[in-house]
This record gives sequence, structure tokens and C-alpha cells, in this order.
Amino acid sequence: MLPLVALVGRPNVGKSTLFNALTRTRDALVHDEPGVTRDRNYGICRLTPERPFVLVDTGGIGGEEEGLAGATARQSRAAAEEADLVLFVVDGREGPSSLDDELMQWLRRHSRPTLLVVNKTDGIDARQAIAEFSRYGFDDASAVSSAHRTGIDDLLDDVLARLPEEGSGEVLDDDPERVRIAFIGRPNVGKSTLVNRLLGEERMIASDVPGTTRDSISVDLERDGRKYRLIDTAGIRRKGRVEEAVEKFSVIKTLQAIEECQVAVVMLDASEGVTEQDATVLGAVLDAGRALVVAVNKWDGLTTYQREQVEALLSRKLTFVPWAENVRISAVHGSGLRELFKAIHRAHLSATRELGTSEVTKALEAAYTANPPPTVRGHVPKLRFAHPGGTNPPTVVIHGSRLKSLPQSYHRYLENFFRKRFKLVGTPVRFVFKEGD
Ligand code: GDP
Ligand code: GDP
Repeated sequence: MLPLVALVGRPNVGKSTLFNALTRTRDALVHDEPGVTRDRNYGICRLTPERPFVLVDTGGIGGEEEGLAGATARQSRAAAEEADLVLFVVDGREGPSSLDDELMQWLRRHSRPTLLVVNKTDGIDARQAIAEFSRYGFDDASAVSSAHRTGIDDLLDDVLARLPEEGSGEVLDDDPERVRIAFIGRPNVGKSTLVNRLLGEERMIASDVPGTTRDSISVDLERDGRKYRLIDTAGIRRKGRVEEAVEKFSVIKTLQAIEECQVAVVMLDASEGVTEQDATVLGAVLDAGRALVVAVNKWDGLTTYQREQVEALLSRKLTFVPWAENVRISAVHGSGLRELFKAIHRAHLSATRELGTSEVTKALEAAYTANPPPTVRGHVPKLRFAHPGGTNPPTVVIHGSRLKSLPQSYHRYLENFFRKRFKLVGTPVRFVFKEGD
């Protein structure tokens, strides 16, 4: 399971700027289409592709609010308390303040491994800025400018050096034949109802597979002769009051489940359409490059008229994932589940499809001929040749020149072209651009 890193710091030190610098990748930018949203406080840092980690910006660590705001604040605190590493972010221009002192006390009480990050060191003496914070007793510190993205590589080195090695405590027996699927979605869309239905109905629980860390439990099941492993997403277990439901909807768990699965099944509540929170979950699946099936649940409760309305709404709201199949289901009645699993199977086949070198090269030629890249400030990006770069999702490596000036619209064009040409459904296609040969 991905390690967890929490940003802690008083307001205005630049936490959200740092959060963005660490979580927004080029891939994510390509997927920035109308309708996709992203969580402002939870994300995955993939700047270290071989060792990604979950990053949480714990905005409200101080207060003891009641109700929903309180639940959110408690989640933040819990994230910091459980983090594998806390980044204590301070403002290198202003030096330590009394609020920093308070946070430092909180950090000492909870004694998580902590790294001091001195931000806003652009245009000032970084060593001097770090020295200002010597009273906090850190052996060393990272100086960065989040706004200018300097010092980030060194910071990442420091972070990785402090994170548990990947796979430590790993007990999963990895059966390559099992398709790893995760049912995800906001609270009350019907995830637990569906999972219970699947398990009860099939009576095929081979075993509860102990999770890697903390309390994650995965379950194996078989359907129509195919084997699956259901990745746990916390929210699926028993829960009570609304507030508790909110707490159980752990974004961190959702992000980790997306990362661990091969096919993400995003569940929606048909009676509520596509909410902002749904769009955020979909955005996270896109960023992870996972195969995707949309399950529109609670289809049973709707009149014919309402169903038509929902169909129209879905086709408007899901334009950013036109390639994902959506299936109407009723978790309560168990209808649509055959179709759902067929869609999961198709998405998995597409996502694991191995493309050949010559077919990829030919596809690039055809895409180029049909629609060459536009001239950008007098320069024409050149696409020279392509070869396959892996699966899950299918990846194409393109060599050429001036590839940085390829507009995002052209990335999307290529992705759609390749998907159509290779008849891929339910999966993104990833492009890696390499300058030169
Ligand atoms: P947060 O409240 O801790 O999340 O802080 P923000 O990320 O919202 O940043 C607060 C202010 O500091 C904004 O005006 C940012 O533009 C500015 N800021 C953030 N990082 C830097 C930096 O590295 N250098 C400078 N000079 N300003 C920064
Ligand atoms: P979760 O928070 O996503 O796990 O959602 P639950 O499985 O706890 O379901 C939330 C509520 O929606 C419960 O009251 C369920 O009975 C109801 N529900 C779940 N699936 C369906 C369905 O297919 N049709 C209808 N009408 N209600 C459903």
C-alpha cells in the first residue's frame, strides 16, 4: 500500500502551492477537461514514479469543530497522526511564529517522523532561512520554493529516504490470474450493498486476504469462471450515523485502492447524477491511468421518465471519459451485475493488451497523416517513431523533437486515435514523449 505523507503547517506558508507542485503531473494536465475535478487536499505524488506516495494537505489540524467540519478536521488530524512522514512546512521569509511553535508542540506530542520544509526560499539565503528555525531541533531541513518549483528534487530525495521501503510488510500472494478490482465512490452510492450481494450470492469467498498495512482486507471471488480480488476501500464496512459515514469515506483509502486495483469500478447513485465528489473520484482514476467502468446504481428506484433524464445527464456529465462503459445496476435487486462483470472483463482485456512495435509505428504514421501536429510559435513538433512501452494502461513511447510544444488537444487526439484503432474500451492510453532518438 502506498505510504502516506502529510503536509502540516500554519495558514499561508505555502502548503497548497507545495501540494500542487508535488501532485500535478503532465498526465493530470492532459486530463484537465471540463467536468473533471480534483481533491484539493488529497493526491498522489508520482514525481518519483517507482515509489509514488499519497500526499495529504492537512488544512485544519488545530480546531475541535463539531459536525461535518469537525469530521473533516478529525480526518486531517488522523492523517497526520498515521502518516509515515510529516512535512512540517514553514515560511522561510517570515521565520518562526507562535503558531509554528504550537504546531511544533503538537508534532512532538504525536512524534511521527517529521521533516522540516522551509518554503519561499526564492531570492533569499536558504541557509540563513533554515538557521532561523534551529530552535525546533531538526538535524536538517529541506529548503524549497514551491512557487518556483526549486528544491523539489532534493526534497523528494529526503522524503524517499525517510519512507518505508516499498512492499515492507507485504503479505499478498499475488495471483496473476486474479483481476484486482475496486468498487469506489462517495458515501451511500451503494458500495457495501453491492459487495455484500456479490459475496453472499456467490458464496465463493476463498479467503479473506490479510492486507499489507493497517486494517485493509481484500476478498477473493469468482464469477462466471473468472477470478477476482476485491480491493478493500474501508467505507465498505459497517457504519452508522452520517458523520461516521463521512469519516469512513476515507479519501486516502480510495486513492490507495485505485492504485492497487487493475480495474476501478466507480459507482454513482442514479437518483443523484454526477456530483462534484463523483467527478473527483473519477479524476483520481484518470490520474492513476486505471481501467474504468462506471456503475450507475439504484436504477431500480426510477420511473421511465427519470431514467431518460439520467441517461441524458450522464452523457453530458461524463464527456471527459467517453471511453468508459457505463452499466446500470441495482445492488439491492442484483440486476445488471452480469453486464457489469462483462464490462469489467472488457476493460481489463483492453488495459492489458500488448501492442506490437510495428502496429504501433503504423498507427502513429496513420495518426500523423490524418492530422499532423499544429505549428506552435513557428515550430512544428516532429513525431519520428513509436514503440510500445507497457500495459495497464497500454503505453506508447513516441520519439521526436519539439515534443514539449505538442498541445494537450493533440495528446487527446492521439489517445482517441489509438484507442479506436486498437479497439480498446474502458482504458486510457498513455503516451510517453522522448526528445531525440
Ligand atoms: P497555505 O495556506 O499554507 O496552503 O499557503 P498557499 O499555498 O495558499 O500560499 C500562501 C501564499 O504564499 C500565496 O500567496 C502563495 O503564492 C505564496 N507562496 C507559496 N509558495 C511560495 C514560494 O515558494 N515563494 C513565494 N515567494 N511565495 C510563495
Ligand atoms: P455505501 O456508503 O456506498 O457503501 O452505500 P450503502 O451500500 O451503505 O447504501 C446506501 C443506501 O443506499 C442504503 O440505504 C442502501 O439500502 C441503498 N441502496 C444501495 N443500493 C441500492 C439500489 O440498488 N437501489 C436502491 N433503491 N437503494 C440502494
